[in-house]
Amino acid sequence: MARKPFIAGNWKMNNTIQEGVTLVNALKAAKNKNNADIMVAPSFTAINAVANALKGTGFIVAAQDCYFEEKGAFTSQVSPSQIKEAGATAVILGHSERRALFGDTNEILNKKIAAALRHNLQVIYCVGETLAEREANKIETVITSQLVEGLKGYTAEELKTLVIAYEPVWAIGTGKTATPEQAEEVHALIRKVLTKILGADFANNIRILYGGSVKAENVDSIMAKENVDGVLVGGQALIAEKFTRIIDYE
Ligand code: PEP
Repeated sequence: MARKPFIAGNWKMNNTIQEGVTLVNALKAAKNKNNADIMVAPSFTAINAVANALKGTGFIVAAQDCYFEEKGAFTSQVSPSQIKEAGATAVILGHSERRALFGDTNEILNKKIAAALRHNLQVIYCVGETLAEREANKIETVITSQLVEGLKGYTAEELKTLVIAYEPVWAIGTGKTATPEQAEEVHALIRKVLTKILGADFANNIRILYGGSVKAENVDSIMAKENVDGVLVGGQALIAEKFTRIIDYE
């Protein structure tokens, strides 16, 4: 099963507009020798300038979140149509920082996914366990409920552009990477759960990214695993040479 690789950078709350434009201009030098989908997720404020700088390159520009309502009295929130107008064609939903710091539950994320899909945004839906959950042998329970509750009510057809990112919370921004074997094990579990809820075809075709302290030095061994189709990168996506090497993994 050949799934197109997907290499994504989540900038989190980093980069001014100018820094973002400079960064993506440097990324254009990547050879993209693996013919991957390449995505960057700037802050809302930089989406428009970054999307303009990337016009015609095929890079995907994503928001890091969106709200589920279309418009109204929701101070600080940004709707799917607003991020689309700014130039994004994708959105990351359910990042563990959103879940832990801003109260995004599976139920809320289920509504955000609906709103994003209504606007034909590609959704990168993040799942992953905390260290305490891993140590308590709860990986399967946690991942299953994130998938079942987050994706409840959608057909395989509606979710055909969906990408899943497996991001063990204990590996994000900590320098502790899951071993390629640990990543592979959970990616296989995710395909098993998706087979149950959306069917074998869907589960075989969906791309599953690993995220958690990915760097130029470890990307090759992670990408070598059968069920790993890409990476979602935080810190190292802010450094042009590092992210370029990640895009052109061996
Ligand atoms: C992330 O932001 O999704 C992430 C995985 O961060 P880092 O690569 O810095 O661990």
